[in-house]
Amino acid sequence: MKKIIIVANWKMNPESLVEAKRLFDYVKRGIKGVKNAEVVVCPPFVFLGSLGANGAQDCFWENRGAFTGEVSPTMLKNLGVEYVIIGHSERRRYLRETDEMVNRKLRAVMAAGLKPILCIANAVQLRESLKGISEKVIVAYEPVSAIGTGRPCSIEKARKMRKAINHKVVLYGGSINSENALDYVKKAGFQGLLIGGASLKADEFLRIVKNISQRG
Ligand code: PEP
Repeated sequence: MKKIIIVANWKMNPESLVEAKRLFDYVKRGIKGVKNAEVVVCPPFVFLGSLGANGAQDCFWENRGAFTGEVSPTMLKNLGVEYVIIGHSERRRYLRETDEMVNRKLRAVMAAGLKPILCIANAVQLRESLKGISEKVIVAYEPVSAIGTGRPCSIEKARKMRKAINHKVVLYGGSINSENALDYVKKAGFQGLLIGGASLKADEFLRIVKNISQRG
């Protein structure tokens, strides 16, 4: 059975390292022994080193220099990070991140030996973000109307999108919970999930991982 990728995007949560450690350790204990799912936890940068997490929520396109406030791909690589979310819709919306910026970040992340998870909401973003990039990347299809709203994309629409995205590994993201998670894998054909809100509720997140790992 192929490994399903389950990405926890903690966004700008929690507020302290103590809480972050509690959540991280609980999840880590809970996924022990899970074989056919790869769990990627993406905490805020400030907690990454202390937790030893395997995912990050973003990074810059240069490796060093005068870029106040930014974090480089090499820094993440040196911390032991493996996956980096790039182009999340919240960054596109609130920080005006463009497809061109996303494209530069993807290139930098891959050059550093990290695995990017490219978030897109439509075919134009997919095409423009990957301009001139021939490598296949992990894509996360996240319809904006489904992110953090409790209104997930219909399975039928998600299935059509999955078919249209010509990449080997495509994740679905948007209002996933333990009730609907398996449908996006089994019925819509995704290779994994990107989970925001539910990744902060340890037991709910572990139920999702369990449902996925026990899929028949
Ligand atoms: C996300 O952060 O990308 C996301 C899908 O959030 P949520 O699961 O809360 O909709």
